[in-house]
Amino acid sequence: MRIDIDRVSKTYQAGTGMKITALDSISLRVDSGEFICIVGPSGCGKSTLLKLIGGIEQPDAGAVRCDDVPVGAPSTDRGFIFQDYALFPWLTVRQNIAFGLTIKGCSRQERKLRIDEYLRFMGLTGAGSLYPGQLSGGMRQRVALARALCLRPKLLLMDEPFAALDVLLRQRLQEELVRIWQTERMTYLLVTHDVEEALFLADRIVIMSPHPGRIRSILPIKLARP
Ligand code: ADP
Ligand code: ADP
Repeated sequence: MRIDIDRVSKTYQAGTGMKITALDSISLRVDSGEFICIVGPSGCGKSTLLKLIGGIEQPDAGAVRCDDVPVGAPSTDRGFIFQDYALFPWLTVRQNIAFGLTIKGCSRQERKLRIDEYLRFMGLTGAGSLYPGQLSGGMRQRVALARALCLRPKLLLMDEPFAALDVLLRQRLQEELVRIWQTERMTYLLVTHDVEEALFLADRIVIMSPHPGRIRSILPIKLARP
């Protein structure tokens, strides 16, 4: 999925009534199959940018298009992985992963096959009947990844997906993510405050500056990848 962000601005109303500029006339084009990492200091608008692309927030000005279609409501073509995983605590791992597949209209049979496939892929076989509260942070993160990936979205938006994990687990999941990306060739956008992570993962790194929510530069590093 190709993304065109054309002079997009977004302000929020603070509690005091003051306006906060989260994004100030940002333009960016992401090609289909690209892996983009977005870095920058806290508060520079990284999450807001992902939410606008995901259709979770609307811009005040400018336009976001995915494959030439203006972004409206959230869609199953676009997967979103939130920082806090956003798993349903009252559903088991299987039920959490099944949720989007059901909405998408997958048959029971197909759902079972896909869930098994992604549980295996994520090393979660045997954890299917557990609840999120019974899992470690690393396992929850894998469930969130499985839930997003099994829908085979054309675009995957990830907001600091590895932030809460220890170094070893983070490295393992980073490697897994690259492997999935290499096989499925979807468009990936990943927000991180970890520059090393961005250097490892990205085709291009978008560096944002805090005042007032602009892109400072875009670093192409595609050639570094084997
Ligand atoms: P980042 O992800 O880079 O930390 P955000 O996109 O979360 O940045 O936020 C950009 C700016 O907008 C920050 O100043 C933040 O405080 C503000 N902001 C984000 N969401 C809201 C909101 N719902 N209401 C008010 N201000 C917000
Ligand atoms: P993973 O192995 O999934 O990457 P961790 O390295 O964080 O996850 O944890 C190692 C193992 O310890 C997990 O696979 C899991 O079996 C177990 N474990 C960790 N925390 C919990 C917990 N809160 N409840 C149940 N099992 C846990």
